[in-house]
Amino acid sequence: MQRRSFIRNAGLSAGLLALAPKDLIAALFQVPAYKITMLRNNVGIFTEKGGTILFYLSDEGIVVVDSEFPDQANHLIDDLKKRNSNPFKLLINTHHHGDHTGGNIAFKGLVEHVVGHENCLANYKRVAGEQKSEDKQLFQDITFKDTWKHKIGKEKIKAYYFGPAHTNGDALIHFQNSNIVHIGDLMFNRMYPVVDKKAGASFQNWVKVLDKAQETFDDQTIFVFGHGSNNAVVGSKDDLKGMQNYINQLLKLVDENIKAGKTKDEIMQITSVPNVGEWKDELKRIKSNLEAAYEELTT
Ligand SMILES: [Zn+2]
Ligand SMILES: [Zn+2]
Repeated sequence: MQRRSFIRNAGLSAGLLALAPKDLIAALFQVPAYKITMLRNNVGIFTEKGGTILFYLSDEGIVVVDSEFPDQANHLIDDLKKRNSNPFKLLINTHHHGDHTGGNIAFKGLVEHVVGHENCLANYKRVAGEQKSEDKQLFQDITFKDTWKHKIGKEKIKAYYFGPAHTNGDALIHFQNSNIVHIGDLMFNRMYPVVDKKAGASFQNWVKVLDKAQETFDDQTIFVFGHGSNNAVVGSKDDLKGMQNYINQLLKLVDENIKAGKTKDEIMQITSVPNVGEWKDELKRIKSNLEAAYEELTT
């Protein structure tokens, strides 16, 4: 259980309230801030703060996909070392955003290689340069253009790139034997997404990328999402269809308003996208989504 939800639930627990303040604090600090869930075989996920991390434990070494932030990466590393005594072989990044690469630095001197799409590395270097934070990063030393493959333990790992979507460097990382794919921030499950135009994002192509994901993987595939409402970060093709529907409805809404002669300012006043089912805007991303859709449809 995450500490935040523990504190929230603790408010309802008569047992905890009966504890002396000193013991209550001790009880709270014994609860780890992170959560680890095993999915299939030796593949699991770690969630604490930032984009979901996926890991694979094998007798030939450990593979980690994404790294959240430095504190979170250290929690993960400490926990995995207790589960498996083999070295960290690969760290793979789904894309460059800080909530997925911020913890890379914790793997410095620990992991053999860091892997990512070539545009992921270019974006990562650009942003680190802008922030003058190069010394706090661990950049990819292996990059790829279309696909990349690696065999380790009982797994065959294959990374795919299907074109620009959330950024122009979103990779999908498939653990073929377990049939689990980390789809990164191509999925904001049941929530309005971040769309990084500065890094070459495209809503129109995002729909096509999600089509390719559904063609490439099957009905037994477990999809791991970068983010999800209510911690729903694991799912199936049905969830991908929901995300596609959100983007299609957003584009349709903006397109209809443009055709009705509305100005950009008027379109930016829209407060929600209709017909998107459970997709919510808890983090207030509607304006950036409308602006990105407007830009795409008018240029
Ligand atoms: Zn993210
Ligand atoms: Zn992202």
